[in-house]
Amino acid sequence: MLVKLTDACRPSDLEAILEALRGEGWEPRHRGRIVVVPVESGRVAHALAGLDGIESIDPQPTDYKLVARDACPEGSRVVAGGVEIGGRELIVIAGPCAVESAEQVEEVAVAVASVGARMLRGGAFKPRTSPYAFQGLGVEGLELLALARQRSGLPVVTEVLAPEEVPLADELADMLQVGARSMQNFPLLKALGRGRQPVLLKRGQGSTVDELLLAAEYIVFHGNPHVVLCERGIRTFETTTRNTLDMGAVAALKALTHLPVIVDPSHAAGRSDLVPAIAKAACAAGADGLLVEVHPSPATARSDGAQALDPSEFAALMRDLAAIAVLCGRSMAASRPGAQAAELARLRAHIDAIDAAVASLLSERFRIVLDVARVKDALGLSLHSPEREQAVLERVARLVEPPLEPEAARVVFEAIVEQARLVAARRGAPAPRDGSPVGPTPRP
Ligand code: PEP
Ligand code: MN
Repeated sequence: MLVKLTDACRPSDLEAILEALRGEGWEPRHRGRIVVVPVESGRVAHALAGLDGIESIDPQPTDYKLVARDACPEGSRVVAGGVEIGGRELIVIAGPCAVESAEQVEEVAVAVASVGARMLRGGAFKPRTSPYAFQGLGVEGLELLALARQRSGLPVVTEVLAPEEVPLADELADMLQVGARSMQNFPLLKALGRGRQPVLLKRGQGSTVDELLLAAEYIVFHGNPHVVLCERGIRTFETTTRNTLDMGAVAALKALTHLPVIVDPSHAAGRSDLVPAIAKAACAAGADGLLVEVHPSPATARSDGAQALDPSEFAALMRDLAAIAVLCGRSMAASRPGAQAAELARLRAHIDAIDAAVASLLSERFRIVLDVARVKDALGLSLHSPEREQAVLERVARLVEPPLEPEAARVVFEAIVEQARLVAARRGAPAPRDGSPVGPTPRP
């Protein structure tokens, strides 16, 4: 039963509606303009008769409602072990496919933490296609993950296959993963819905976007709003990659739901050489984070070694992502305590990547300045427009965020505008020889 509230519904109207429903012994769930009552009964309409703020009552909704973008237009954020997913920061979760030993998981955890991963992944209960394949270390694997969390400071995400695994995993991990093969394991979804632990819900390899959202709705409907979705590729006729990453689904999900959406490039690619490109594309497509498999020695991994990055490949990916994240309006991990020397190198690499992006953007900006000059020539307009320059400076001063002060941004952009004027004034003239001085241009 779904109750839709009017735009004019006041907090006191909502409270009266929730009270009336609770008075009947039901547990209503509320999000934005939606109230869901987990019963199918004409008694709901009866209980709400005469109350204000109700637009409609749908006795039997079939579509997802609580996870729909409408219910929370600003987007929801999920906090797992202190890490917020769904905000401005691109959250990278990294670690081995399966926990194999204390040394293996600890080595990866420390390595990925030192280059900016925010969470550690690792499977203790493994869903394997063949019953003869390594099935994971089970409870021992969970304990090793908890130790690696202590050593690296990274919160942990791990997969649960069955409802009876939830309580222990809940105790030892910070976020529970529902794997692609379990996306429609309804008893598992209901068990996770009854808890409060954040859930990472992966799209089934044969599931539509709608089915993924309805699986998420199960968890939220049963009481747990902390759900993050993960696109990890679907089965198609294509066999070059292990799965076909549905990048369109990432963009679509961001519009259809308020839940955070992350991408797993590793299971999509099935080959480590393709992982960086897919990861970078996912960031550009609007993903809130990435789930990447990393192994200290991929060649000897007990599962999914072909798609695992080694720590140095992962470090290179993190450097590339730093530049792309900036262009996508996102930030990446802030400095972490510990591993100070590695941290300094990582932060410098991050700055280098950002400088490369800034240099490339500035070059493009100056090319456009020349185009503008040509258009102005054709229109017979004066090259110098003080009002436009003023508007540019005021706009950037409004755009910057602390610790960059508006005044400091103004100074930087005054220099850019000044150089742009020089470049425009020289249009058509031969390029200056190396080292020719650039100085202030006389204003026309
Ligand atoms: C995994 O993350 O290790 C995993 C088994 O992934 P998926 O469920 O997407 O196949
Ligand atoms: Mn795997």
